[in-house]
Amino acid sequence: MSGGDERDGAKLAVDGGAPVRRDRLPYGRQQISEEDVAAVVSALRGDWLTTGPLVEAFERALAAATGAPEVVAVSNGTTALHTMLAAAGVGPGDEVIVPAMTFVATANAVLYCGGKPVIVDVDPGTLLIDPAAVAAAISPRTVAVVAVDYGGQPVDYDALRAICDQHGLRLFTDGCHALGATSRGRPVGTLADATTLSFHPVKHIATGEGGAIATADPALAARMRRVRNHGLNQTAAEREKAGTFRYEMAEWGHNFRLTDIQCALGISQLRRLDENLARRRALAARYAGLLSAVPGVEPLVLRPEVEHAWHLYVVRMKRGAWSVPREELHRLMLAEGIGVNVHYLPVHLHAYHQAQGAFTGQCPVAEAAYAELLTLPLHHGMSDEDQDDVLRALHKLVAARGQAE
Ligand SMILES: *Cc1c(COP(=O)(O)O)cnc(C)c1O
Repeated sequence: MSGGDERDGAKLAVDGGAPVRRDRLPYGRQQISEEDVAAVVSALRGDWLTTGPLVEAFERALAAATGAPEVVAVSNGTTALHTMLAAAGVGPGDEVIVPAMTFVATANAVLYCGGKPVIVDVDPGTLLIDPAAVAAAISPRTVAVVAVDYGGQPVDYDALRAICDQHGLRLFTDGCHALGATSRGRPVGTLADATTLSFHPVKHIATGEGGAIATADPALAARMRRVRNHGLNQTAAEREKAGTFRYEMAEWGHNFRLTDIQCALGISQLRRLDENLARRRALAARYAGLLSAVPGVEPLVLRPEVEHAWHLYVVRMKRGAWSVPREELHRLMLAEGIGVNVHYLPVHLHAYHQAQGAFTGQCPVAEAAYAELLTLPLHHGMSDEDQDDVLRALHKLVAARGQAE
């Protein structure tokens, strides 16, 4: 290779150089095996396409995976949040505390119930909900906290539980990032009063759309099963077994059901959860080692008592280390064929919430972090070579847009 070619290799794609990759490496992606395909085909040939035996089988498999005695499968992670809060009785006038650093769905679920999401700041190192901010936000109308295991890292459950117990609040978790994570050896799914999961293709387990709630509270689980099915006191299968046509709408409910077709896929996917998590953990450890040689790129702080599920690998592109803003760094990485992303624009900065009275400056830690956030590709189908491409692109960025401090 000539010296000119080598210089060309260091030139950014946006400056006319060759991109690191021509096919973009996605930040997250499902893996579908031949066994998955066969499981779905077999469900299609069965008697029940929805609300049949595969839903119960998927719920049992999820209960085994999370350690939660009860699991209720629903149509997606958002309806899981909605079902959980509705079953808990959240309604008009109620306030529910949520972190600023999460997907909009966490707060939306409170709105669906007629409640008010109270958006609080996060810890600067981990970007997990800050227990002190939770304590400061409690009012006589507060009924619950929905913590978010952001990126797949469990929050400080001991601190949150103490605050919630002291004020008589329920502690819930949006665990949509955290299937398979543990805190002090206890799995996500057993750490809060109820925990939601999502099976969107970028999450650990894919069912297309899909979600579930894990809980140890049988009364809450029974209510969630009714909320999922129009508020009815019996499912079609239960009526068939009992030989009766009669059903009753006992309470408010929705159609948030998950199909047997999707559950067939979920059961098959769940069989590979352990290897999925092991691969994500290996890639995350490798990222940490490789990134220590990249100036201006800082991984988030890890809590010592947790085993991370690594849904996302989030770094901070440190202010002052770059000659261009994060928006531009994101664009440059995409041009190199590296599918980076940003998780998240803090909830209170969305136009809807600003129109409802949320304001810039409300959660300064989340806002400052947002300006630096970049999610690097991480999924269980990624190879070491894929990961090396991410590092190659970052090193090109440092050479072309880095700034000595
Ligand atoms: C994905 C996700 C949801 C919503 O899940 P869907 O299945 O897409 O509805 C909710 N909260 C968080 C934190 C998520 O990442």
